[in-house]
Amino acid sequence: MKEAYLYEKLEEQKVRCGLCSHNCLIKPGAKGICRVRENRDGTLVSLVYDKIIARHLDPIEKKPLFHFLPGSTSYSIATPGCNLKCRFCQNADISQMPADAGQIVGEARTPAELVREALAQQAASISYTYTEPTIYFELAHDTSRLAATKGLKNVFVSNGFMTRACLEMIHPDLHAANVDLKSFSERFYKETCGARLAPVLETLQTMKKLGIWLEVTTLLIPGLNDSPEELRDLARFLAALDKGIPWHISRFHPMYRLQDIAATAPDGIHRARDIGLEQGLQFVYSGNLPGDKGENTFCPACKTLLIERYGFLVRRNKIKDGHCFQCGVAIPGVWE
Ligand code: SF4
Repeated sequence: MKEAYLYEKLEEQKVRCGLCSHNCLIKPGAKGICRVRENRDGTLVSLVYDKIIARHLDPIEKKPLFHFLPGSTSYSIATPGCNLKCRFCQNADISQMPADAGQIVGEARTPAELVREALAQQAASISYTYTEPTIYFELAHDTSRLAATKGLKNVFVSNGFMTRACLEMIHPDLHAANVDLKSFSERFYKETCGARLAPVLETLQTMKKLGIWLEVTTLLIPGLNDSPEELRDLARFLAALDKGIPWHISRFHPMYRLQDIAATAPDGIHRARDIGLEQGLQFVYSGNLPGDKGENTFCPACKTLLIERYGFLVRRNKIKDGHCFQCGVAIPGVWE
């Protein structure tokens, strides 16, 4: 049990959580929308500070981060819970465990133990992933602080629905993030995820301002978020923010409560990728399509192949000190 960060005590022992954009008003004895933060007699506590449900050593490419220490490994952890309710969630067994099964289970691990495990496995970073790091922010924050003092980088894989205060509190120790931009439609966010688009767009802007290395992922779901107009608007937004933001367009497979939609056809991924490039984005990647040409990094200036990948494997990396080995143009990213 750990007292929550970033909440406000109100009259009659109510509290308001400030971690994510739901800003839940929670009465004594009740929990927030994420079901992992509870008001105990006017004090908000995290129920997952010591509940690690997953921990694996992953290639950083699996996050996916393609321009952040390529070829390195990231010690990847999660607790149960999420603040969104995406009908297509790929990790619903753990993200929706508190909501669907009424359970919160996991192993006790202190931040010091997690950092020790990451170092013992020679990871370059710790990733807070699989579920939503915002809802286990206290653990992510304390672990990140300690990890940074030991030379490890910290990575969030997030839905981006956190508040600016949350990002400002962790940002000196948060080095990179992959944020899901699930759609460019408020309606999609409301009906399919139980959230809102606008706060996610603000998070992307804030992350750029704070200097956190940012990559973005969109899971392309046939008929729901794949119209050319919507993809054009989304890509235009990203390009206006920074043309060098890598955009990962990932293939959907039927999951959780979206079992009645077929997997995305490879052609759909290719069309979306073309739209991203047409809108000026320099790095647009195919996801969940191992062996696809769109997994590789090309120089935006001379088009030379710079990083060749197969799935999460880096086969060849020809970036030299952050520059194209051929024409010398700088390639945005964190390379060492
Ligand atoms: S983190 Fe949980 S309790 Fe806090 S505002 Fe978000 S959903 Fe509500």
